[in-house]
Amino acid sequence: MKRVLITGGAGFLGSHLCDRFIHEGYHVIAMDNLITGDIRNIEHLFPLKQFQFYHSDVSKFVYVPGELHYILHFASPASPIDYLKIPIQTLKVGSLGTHNLLGLARAKQARMLIASTSEVYGDPHVHPQNEDYWGNVNPVGPRGVYDEAKRFQEAMTMAYHTFHGLETRIVRIFNTYGPRMRLDDGRALPAFISQALRGEDLTVFGDGSQTRSFCYVDDLIEGIYRLLLSDYPYPVNVGNPNEITIKQFAEEIIKLTGTQQKIVYKPLPTDDPRQRRPDISRAKEILDWEPKVSREDGLKITYEYFRKTVDTQATAYASGTK
Ligand code: UDP
Repeated sequence: MKRVLITGGAGFLGSHLCDRFIHEGYHVIAMDNLITGDIRNIEHLFPLKQFQFYHSDVSKFVYVPGELHYILHFASPASPIDYLKIPIQTLKVGSLGTHNLLGLARAKQARMLIASTSEVYGDPHVHPQNEDYWGNVNPVGPRGVYDEAKRFQEAMTMAYHTFHGLETRIVRIFNTYGPRMRLDDGRALPAFISQALRGEDLTVFGDGSQTRSFCYVDDLIEGIYRLLLSDYPYPVNVGNPNEITIKQFAEEIIKLTGTQQKIVYKPLPTDDPRQRRPDISRAKEILDWEPKVSREDGLKITYEYFRKTVDTQATAYASGTK
């Protein structure tokens, strides 16, 4: 049985990866310090003997006994309000954490896949963004702690590939949504849905003309799985090229939830990218991958998840179990 280590295993993407690898017959070791992850995302896996959980911080030291075939580094705060709250940890997990895991991969002769991001392109001057674009990032802006950690992570990973011959995979993940996103993580989709559920107005930042392209989580996980098993060591964009303005997105959420609330406009955060859309030609060619789930279907599933989560939390509070 192949053994895979997934850091950030209790997070949004990490927990979906744990499910996928269990489903594919792997022994899965999830690691998380639970700063932004949530143990409830993986508690259904705890009874399985092919699943283990390590509560530890990859920025410090990583110890895993026994063989490892694959390492997927998904530990990191990933929403702008998280990395404003914990900027140093964000820098450390992308830099020191990556270095520790590359060392572990080398010691175990494991293949290492790192979770990079469309944020390496910053506020892009090239549209749509392809992997050859170097980006436009402000290193000292509020997003710099995340963007630069991820850029360093890519550089470090490539150095281990060229210098040590380590097998590496780099996925550049664009905006992704789906069940297990944190309702309070501050990103557009959880913010809009939770505002609708609480009967509050939806807060659009700026004039809402900035664009994003949202990928449903199952499509993303499929792309990552294919990339890991491919033989391509360089960065690959994985995301959905269906681009939409944030204002249109808020309007879709209003329609989906049937809320009576309206849109209110707030100041645009510093360095908020104006536009974002992945060029996925490389993923199509190398992985024979493209997203399949429409935004309409993906949003319905996600809304149901958020509704249930809010109901469960409300019941727990009411019954005094929380
Ligand atoms: N946004 C918004 N209202 C919110 C949260 C986010 O208008 O309550 C905007 C944000 O300014 C950005 C876009 O939605 O332009 C996507 O933000 P998100 O935090 O989801 O991800 P990003 O792609 O910026 O990392």
